[in-house]
Amino acid sequence: MRATTIHAPYDMRVEDVPEPIVQLPTDAVVRVLRACICGSDLWAYRGEAARQPGQRIGHEFLGVVEETGSEVTG
Ligand SMILES: [Zn+2]
Repeated sequence: MRATTIHAPYDMRVEDVPEPIVQLPTDAVVRVLRACICGSDLWAYRGEAARQPGQRIGHEFLGVVEETGSEVTG
């Protein structure tokens, strides 16, 4: 799959990354259909908030739940 990652201030990339899997009973795998940039992503983009190199960014999205862990009820 493709994901947006940040490697350093002003260095954001769209890269191939491993497919997500359910690891914990409370996990869900969501196929993202639409996403946007959040203000908190801009802090990292400008170097004003720390991120691990290669960390995925973006958490504002619309998608379809494709798989859930055993403890997900809603
Ligand atoms: Zn946000």
